[in-house]
Amino acid sequence: MNSVELISPNNVTANAMIRAIDMIRPQIQAQRPALVAFCVGTQINGTPHLGTSLVQAAFLLAAAARRAFSVEAVVRFGALDNAPYDIQLDPETHHAYQITYHHALGTDGVTELIDKNYRAFFDSLADATGIDYEIETYTEQQSIPAFRAEFLRTQRQLDTIRWPLSPSHGIVHLRLPCPACGWAEKRAERTKLTRLADASGAFTAVCTTCGPYEITVTPEAGPYIDLATLYRNLVKERVLAAEPATLNVMVKGGDWAPGCQLVDAAFAALHGIHSPPRIFTPMALTDTGAKLSKSLIRDNKLPPPPGAQPWMLNATEWNGGIDDYVDAMVWLVRLMLSNPKHFYRSYTTLEVNRLMSTRSVTPTSPPRARHMNLYRRYFDLVASGRKTIEVRVQYANLRNLAAGQYIRFACGTDECLTRVVRVARYTSFDEMLDIEGPANVNPDSPREEQLANIRRIYNPEKEALGVLAIQIERV
Ligand SMILES: [Zn+2]
Repeated sequence: MNSVELISPNNVTANAMIRAIDMIRPQIQAQRPALVAFCVGTQINGTPHLGTSLVQAAFLLAAAARRAFSVEAVVRFGALDNAPYDIQLDPETHHAYQITYHHALGTDGVTELIDKNYRAFFDSLADATGIDYEIETYTEQQSIPAFRAEFLRTQRQLDTIRWPLSPSHGIVHLRLPCPACGWAEKRAERTKLTRLADASGAFTAVCTTCGPYEITVTPEAGPYIDLATLYRNLVKERVLAAEPATLNVMVKGGDWAPGCQLVDAAFAALHGIHSPPRIFTPMALTDTGAKLSKSLIRDNKLPPPPGAQPWMLNATEWNGGIDDYVDAMVWLVRLMLSNPKHFYRSYTTLEVNRLMSTRSVTPTSPPRARHMNLYRRYFDLVASGRKTIEVRVQYANLRNLAAGQYIRFACGTDECLTRVVRVARYTSFDEMLDIEGPANVNPDSPREEQLANIRRIYNPEKEALGVLAIQIERV
């Protein structure tokens, strides 16, 4: 990292810790999880902007957790396909009705949107940080029995959580889209709970075009359930916090902090499950101190603030490719993560612009390289040049791996840069070892021992993704 003058005041949070990632150390100590998952909610309707890019610091937080706690870490994206795609008023009652992205575009349409706006960005972040990611849509999430059972549990205790979740009215909105056309009452004016049993809940509602309908929710897959934002977060977080071997960490923009106090109040009222750890990422602010809002500026309600560059509002305006944009964001977030007092604060567009102008990219900069972690015994073999074949399964972010690209292998703070000479794809580890030769994968270990070790790392479902033999040479 080059020298950048970055001055941040001290604060209580930063004063209490050495590294920003120490925020989750209490839960790491208490639970000793096998895996830490950094969970990010992502809007799917629009390209990333500076605010979303800062929240996607989740990749770097995962990398920091892996280093600090020697634990596996991944990023989980919740794609919010329940966001309203269109809103209409009922001509008689003037109640608002909405249809979600899922109901308007279908599963294929939503997948297409995620691929168009986010996939390349995530793949590039995964390459740069060596952190794998998963995407789950809200539609998939609400269909899981654990989520639906938790929803029914909270319905039975609605009186204890209605005020934290809806502090002004005490009415918690529940949207159950019409099974015929997919539209739902936005504020649930005519959605009523009629019967609540141990494992089911019956509701009635009125569709603006189809008329009254009845819906029975059970834990099994069935009618779609969409919840007001705070309520949805409560149900989702209670499911995630109950997962046994995984520590799920919620990563959110700093503007979420007050809302999370309400979610925490609902957690406390329900007893039993503690709320999951949360990390609030730095916000991008305008000169007035308001959050940088793409829609306010786009609709010309506010002029672009001082220092705002087109790429801050729309990443595709970046002067360079996606990898180059991601490298710049990784540089910026690493700078913020270098000290908790630089991370637990916010930045104006003017300050981000100043920081970015100090980033030097010279022709002598090292080539862009994928980051891959290795156990010590394998790292030493690669570093000495004795191991020339690295084995991986075909994760999504490796599908474009090709000869001529670079891989930076890492073990702790040691790194070793290599160039990809050849990539071969196989259907099984057996086939790969037969053709590549076990001595090229590991000169110190017999074939059967290698096979057993690889299968300890990758289960049969992972092997079924396809096996990659990556021939490398030291640079
Ligand atoms: Zn309808």
